[in-house]
Amino acid sequence: MIARGAALSFAVAGSLCAAQQIHAQAPAAPARTILAIGAHAGDMELTAGAVLIKQHKLGDRVVILQMTLGEGGNSRLSPTVYGAQKRREALAADSVIGAETIFAPYRDGEIPNDEAVRRYVADVIRTVKPTYIITHWSHSIHKDHANTSLIVQDAVLLASLEGVVTTHPAHRGVRGIYYADNWEDAESFSPYIYVGVSDEMAQWREAVTKYEFVGGTISSFKYLDYYEALSTVRGAISGKGRAVAFDIESFGKRRVLDSLP
Ligand SMILES: [Zn+2]
Repeated sequence: MIARGAALSFAVAGSLCAAQQIHAQAPAAPARTILAIGAHAGDMELTAGAVLIKQHKLGDRVVILQMTLGEGGNSRLSPTVYGAQKRREALAADSVIGAETIFAPYRDGEIPNDEAVRRYVADVIRTVKPTYIITHWSHSIHKDHANTSLIVQDAVLLASLEGVVTTHPAHRGVRGIYYADNWEDAESFSPYIYVGVSDEMAQWREAVTKYEFVGGTISSFKYLDYYEALSTVRGAISGKGRAVAFDIESFGKRRVLDSLP
């Protein structure tokens, strides 16, 4: 398990906390790869973009897999026209973040919950070789978000198995899945890891406002206000000024000690 300076809180995963604290002063680890997988273009940038910016600045490779363009979200434009717009916006936003972008071949509202999509994501994982994956929490009001979360969890396993044949060899290097703090995925979401992002918020705003929908002209939801305020709330709780929070699976929160700390 890695541990390195400013990125330490990002890497903490339950029972490994104590070991990581011991190694907190260890020399900087080699750069990692962070793969963020969102159901709709914009999901990962809004929820985790500030952390992705931070990790990129720390030397990590950052890749965003957009499962769909979210092309159905504009009542004034056809999915074809708005999808083309969302593709341009995603590339512009991810460029500001310092992320590479991969567009999956799925349609808004129609991400299948089947074996083929798991194989597709597993093959992306084998291609990108991520150290960490960020995706949706599985309890969501949006079917695409919930499906993406389930697909990613299974795809990490499939990607690691030698016996599962895709076009690339197995990748066993995923050290953890982090679930993003998304207003649509709030049911039973419990913030566990907080990452300070005070110095990244201006760049985050520049990135996410590449998406027209963030500005409030397409959807009435106040995306910018919500995620700005959320970073203040998470920052207040963590004493980090501004922060982004993630949840992890409950089994990762187990701590095993020889005596009370
Ligand atoms: Zn979404």
